[in-house]
Amino acid sequence: MKDEFSFIRSIQPDRHHQPTVVAGIGDDAALYDAEEGFHEIAAVDTLVEDMHFTKKTMTPFHIGYKALAVNVSDIAAMGGRPVYYLVSVSVPKSGSWSEAELQEMYKGMTVLADEYGVDLIGGDTNATNDKLVVSVTVIGRVEKGVRLLRSNAKPGDVVFVTGPVGSSAAGLHYLLEGDDCPEHYLKAHQMPEPQVSAGRLLAQAGGRIALNDISDGLASEANEIAEASGVTVEIDWSRVPHDLHGETDEYVEKWTLFGGEDFQLIGCTGQQTWERLTESFEKNGQRLIRIGRVVEGKREVFLLKNGERTVLKKGGYNHFVKGD
Ligand code: ADP
Ligand code: MG
Repeated sequence: MKDEFSFIRSIQPDRHHQPTVVAGIGDDAALYDAEEGFHEIAAVDTLVEDMHFTKKTMTPFHIGYKALAVNVSDIAAMGGRPVYYLVSVSVPKSGSWSEAELQEMYKGMTVLADEYGVDLIGGDTNATNDKLVVSVTVIGRVEKGVRLLRSNAKPGDVVFVTGPVGSSAAGLHYLLEGDDCPEHYLKAHQMPEPQVSAGRLLAQAGGRIALNDISDGLASEANEIAEASGVTVEIDWSRVPHDLHGETDEYVEKWTLFGGEDFQLIGCTGQQTWERLTESFEKNGQRLIRIGRVVEGKREVFLLKNGERTVLKKGGYNHFVKGD
């Protein structure tokens, strides 16, 4: 990068979506008004080249898109809508990333940002010795009183997801193998859609709901809810939705349960709220799929498959541990 200031100027948006911005990029810090009657939500995620993404499977545009998408997904998992983001980028001194590629990365972010009306209001530009590091902070808002916490699950709850899982992992697999990759796997890996509108419907339902976004895999996120809520979660394998066609059972199981990065939402709620939710989701033409239930017990997750009940660990499916 020749000149940091001209680079910042080149990625600076020329207008804002949010009327609450007082001063965005260009001062010491961003200044904006809070909104009466809303909680503010903040999330940050850092992506490190060759650890969280690789240029082998993602263009700079996709890397930018996804860096913002993972954060917007965290806002969705709190039922909020995203309003601002800030980007810290550390650029390899080796020159392995050109200024044009960095601008492409910002374009990827802008495409998603424009879709959701999110404004870039600041960031930081640094150098690294080795790989690109991009850290995105997103600020969102949700109506006061809405708390879609992962500690909210209770025995008797329905467990649901907002859509199919496993396609992102399938995309990564095909791309790394150098094989032809079906288009919808490619899209799931490179341009995942954060579930903001589903999160908003959940926030508006007004009931007790536990919610997580599926970044690390269904098994992992279900375990997070079980741990935080002090309950047992049971997942019915036959109900877990996926779009994996023509794949072996082994891969289908691995990708859907442990793949992650599809950024669907997983949640738990009581029967009454569930009924309201199925109505509101149907009215909006959106999916909400029941995949299991919450029962009393230790903080664990079980997979019900072919009449067997096996412990589903965060990182792997243990075929040999039988539940009681
Ligand atoms: P300071 O020295 O006050 O931190 P900087 O020169 O780092 O100022 O940044 C100047 C302005 O540009 C600030 O508003 C900052 O938020 C913004 N900015 C810097 N780097 C980036 C970046 N990579 N992406 C977006 N905004 C950035
Ligand atoms: Mg700075």
